[in-house]
This record gives sequence, structure tokens and C-alpha cells, in this order.
Amino acid sequence: GYLEMDSSTRRNLEITRTLDGNVKGSLLHSLKHTKTAVGSRLLAERLSNPSVDKKEINHRLDIIDFFIENQKSAREVAELLKGLPDLERAISRLGVNRGGPRDLQSIRFALEKVSSVKNNLHNGLEQPIGLLDIVRNFGEHFCIIEELTKALMPELPMLARDGGFIAKGYNSTFDQLIILRDESRSLISGLQADYSSVSGVDNLKIKHNNVLGFFIEVTAKHGDALMQNELFIHRQTMANAVRFTTVDLSELQTKILDAKEKSLAIELQIYDDLINKVLTVKEDILKASNSFAKVDLSCSFAMFALQNQYCRPNMTDEYIFDVKSARHPVVEHAMKLQNQDFISNDCDFTEDSNLWLLTGPNMAGKSTFLRQNALLVIMAQAGLYVPAESARIGVVDKVFSRVGASDNLAKGQSTFMVEMIETAAILNRATNRSFVILDEIGRGTATFDGLAIAWACVEYLHEVSRCRSLFATHYHELTALQAKLGRLSRHTMDIKEWEDQVIFLHSVVDGEAKGSFGIHVAKLAGVPKSVVERAEEVLQILEEDERSGAIEKLEDDLPLFSAVAKEDIKNPVEEALKDIHVDELSPRQALDELYKLSKLLNK
Ligand code: ATP
Repeated sequence: GYLEMDSSTRRNLEITRTLDGNVKGSLLHSLKHTKTAVGSRLLAERLSNPSVDKKEINHRLDIIDFFIENQKSAREVAELLKGLPDLERAISRLGVNRGGPRDLQSIRFALEKVSSVKNNLHNGLEQPIGLLDIVRNFGEHFCIIEELTKALMPELPMLARDGGFIAKGYNSTFDQLIILRDESRSLISGLQADYSSVSGVDNLKIKHNNVLGFFIEVTAKHGDALMQNELFIHRQTMANAVRFTTVDLSELQTKILDAKEKSLAIELQIYDDLINKVLTVKEDILKASNSFAKVDLSCSFAMFALQNQYCRPNMTDEYIFDVKSARHPVVEHAMKLQNQDFISNDCDFTEDSNLWLLTGPNMAGKSTFLRQNALLVIMAQAGLYVPAESARIGVVDKVFSRVGASDNLAKGQSTFMVEMIETAAILNRATNRSFVILDEIGRGTATFDGLAIAWACVEYLHEVSRCRSLFATHYHELTALQAKLGRLSRHTMDIKEWEDQVIFLHSVVDGEAKGSFGIHVAKLAGVPKSVVERAEEVLQILEEDERSGAIEKLEDDLPLFSAVAKEDIKNPVEEALKDIHVDELSPRQALDELYKLSKLLNK
């Protein structure tokens, strides 16, 4: 049920991370305007696994439409969702015994928002099916909210270990122990007053430490007075203080310790019971969490789409990809931050024209254009609006992208090997419902090897894969293929040459590039003047020798056509196999058939 993308496609398109591993600069980062952690995880999941189910995609889009039409509701819901605790994480921490009282509190706070969000969505507005599902899945959580509200104190410790988080009035046994514990404290201060008057020592204090427990302390000069009194039992003499205990004090201490221990044990037991109660309704809570995520994603994306002039893609089953004035969401976002305008472009594939050959100078925007169209497919099938004026997209089954050079030296693969592995994956796996972008195939090897590979790939995409493909190249020789390949069209990035300068207009127009202007880019990049001048001389010499006639020969004899024709010849073994009805054969006949097949094969 998901749009298939291999790992190199995901990496190249920088969906959730950029090529250098950062979230910033990825598609996810530019689109993430969610208010909650669950919402942003859902966005990441949808972008990583877009759907191929037109119905599901439309349900998701309908919810975004709902918020676009009801912006007041969207704003209110967004406000409600601000600071929503992460239900999923709290539940999973509690489930593996790594949670704390604050996780229970988070669950309570989040569930308390359910009814206000639900009320806001009702509001007398007509809800699309997807939203009705969301509302249903929110569920009702009054019992667990009530239980947690009664049980928990307002201020909670991080860990349950030391207690101090169960509110008074929740459990009567616990309450009694707490009273005993607190009363004992007042008894201690009563004892202190008594002992002070009995001994006549005003500054007599009852103190506590972990070694002695409770003890009576007087300064050294009053030590003797207490020593002579039978009531006091000597415990310790310090440099300037003497410590005593009494039978009553020891008994009280035992009582206090008992109450403390018992109350902590009961508190921890209550905590465990609360966790169990929460975990028994875990599924309902997770459903509510998922509803929060969906509402958050849809309403925040609706606002974002409005602000950035995104449009709802029209998803169809037809073989089509027709986007008008489309933009690259990430590059546009980055350029906006620098107050620059992104130039929008159209792209239009039909069954009769499904392969675009894109040439153009370096730095003109070819890679950007290629990626932008692949990203539009991904966003649309993730159920999101797309950065375009209009978009009609026939559901795609797989997206493939081969862009830029990378190597995987650790796995023993050179740059060119990686390029070829990625190309092989595309050519072997793309179907006619796929969407393929190929950028500069064959650049990592000798010019003629590269050209030959690129040439054969274009033919294969046209004749065999028949998918919607964008092929960007600096091999201008490839444009000659248009004469033979009916569904291929040539496009180029528009430029203006002015006073020895090249101005990149970044718009895609019909036709082919006049040149790569690589030397111009080298100059811009700061390559030394002498190298640039020498390169210009060499280029001139090379251009004079070019087009020795080889290209025309290739145009007349497209080798792939003969290869495809060969593939069409019927295989006699296969034909013979088709005539065999295995269930009707005796073992002896089966053996005879096997001999016949073997003979056929040897022929
Ligand atoms: P090369 O052949 O050298 O790889 P390229 O033709 O693939 O170059 P890109 O890498 O796509 O060129 O684009 C170069 C730069 O041009 C981008 O980083 C971006 O800043 C700018 N650019 C590309 N497309 C557009 C556009 N449509 N509008 C505005 N700026 C653009």
C-alpha cells in the first residue's frame, strides 16, 4: 500500500535528512509546522511512506480542505494543541517500567484536551469521512481522567521511588498513615517541650540523622544535668554537644519509621495500580494520540499551505503528471529566507510524451527541477498539498532518483559503481506507473563510455520501462534521439547571454541547450584566470573535431530496438513447456518430456 522508494532515492531526495545527515534542509524540515511531537512524527512517517491508495490520499486531502475552509477552527485547534504532552512516549515509558508520576500527569493533561478538540471540530461544520474517523478514534476518557485527577498531587516528583505524589483523599489507608506520620511529628515537638522543662535546659533540641535516628541534643555545658537524670540515656558526646535518647523517643521513632515505610509502600502500590489502569486502556489512549497527530498535521499543514500558495493535487488513475507553476519546496523555503524569488516551472507528462530530456548549462537549475517534480509526487501521495498552481497526478507506484555523485568506499564501491548500481536498480525495477528522475548518468567514466551508457538508458526507459521520466544530461548529443523516440521531448533551462555573461533564468523551455557553459561556472567559482583561458582554447579545438559522424550513425541504428526485437523471438523450450500438463503425466512420460526439453535446449 506504499509508494516504493529505495534507500538511495530517499537519500538523494533528502526526504527526512539531507545528504550530510542533518534534519535541517530536508523536505521534512521545510514542511514541519506541527504543534505536537506526535504530529511531526506522523508527518515524517507519511513523507517516508506515501500511499498508493487514491482513496486514502483523498481522505487525507479532504481533512486539509476542511481546515482551509474553516480557518477559525484550524486556529483554535492549533492553540489547543500547543504544549500537548506526548501520549505515545508517556505510554511506552510506563509500559516498560521507565516512567514516573509525571507521565501519568501528561496522560491526564493530554486526555483532558480530547473533548475540547472534538467540540471544536464539531462546531456544526460538515466533516469529511477522514475527520469523522479521527473524531471517533479520539474516544471518551472520563474515567481515567477522573481517576488520575483524584490520585495525583498538583506538583509531582520525577521519580516514584521516594513517594510524595498521591493526593490526600484518594486512598483511606494511605491517608491514615500520612496522618500518623504527620501527627508523630507534632508529638516530637511536644516531647521536646516536655524534656526541656523537665531538664530545665531551654535550648534542648530533638534532631534527626541517618545514624542515630531521633536524638536529644544539648550543648556540652548542659550535658551533666541530663546525665544525672535517669530519664535520659546517653548516646554520644561530641566536642560541643551531648546526645541522648529516651524510651518514649525510641518508641515514637519506631512508630514514625513504620508509618513512613508503610505509607511509601502503599503509595508505590497505588502508583502501580494506576499504571495498570492506564495500560488496560492503552489502545484507546494510543488511538486518541493518533487522532491528535492527524488533526495537528492537517490543521498546521492547511495553514502552511494557505500562507505559501500550495494547491490540492488532483489525484487520478490516469497516466498523467501535469503540474503548473510548480516549485521546489525546500529551495523555495531557503530562498524566501534570503528574500529571493524561486522561479516556478511546469512539467507535463502524458502517455504520448512521458520522457523529458533536459539539457542546460551548469548551475541553471536542472537538478532542482528534477527533484522538485519527484518531491511533488511524494508530497501528493503523502496526502499533502503541493507547491504549485495546479497539479494533476496519476498515482505513481515507485519513485526512483539517481542524482549527484556519491561513493561507498567502506562497502568497496567506487563513485561510478554506485552510480551504475543505482541505475541498474531503476532500469530493472521501474514499471510504467513509476516516476524516474535521472541526473547526469554516465558522468563518472570516460566521455564515450558515459555517453554510450546514457544513450542506452534513454532508449531503455522509452522502449521498455515506459515510465514518466526526467533525464537531465550534459551529453547534448542525446537530443538527437528525439527524431527516433516518439515519446521523448527536449527541454532546456533558459539563459540569457549578455556582455560575455551568462544569466540563469531558471525556467524550463522547449528545445536544447546551446552549451554547458561549464567554463563560465569555473570562472564564477574562482578558478585561476590562466586555467580558464587555457580551458577556453582547448574547448575550441575539441569542438572543431567534434561530430565525426558517429552520432548520426547511432541515430540511424538504435541498437536497443534490435535488442528488443531479439527478445521477442519465441523461446522453443518455453513454448514446449506451455504445452505440458504436468498433472496428467505419468512418471515415465514426465521423464520423456524432460529428455525432450533438454534436447531442445541443446539445439
Ligand atoms: P549542474 O549541472 O552544475 O549540476 P544544475 O543545472 O543541476 O547544475 P542546480 O544545482 O539545480 O543546477 O541549481 C543551481 C542553483 O540555482 C540552485 O542551488 C538554486 O540556488 C538555483 N536555482 C535552481 N533552480 C531555481 C529556480 N527555479 N528558481 C530560482 N533559483 C533556482
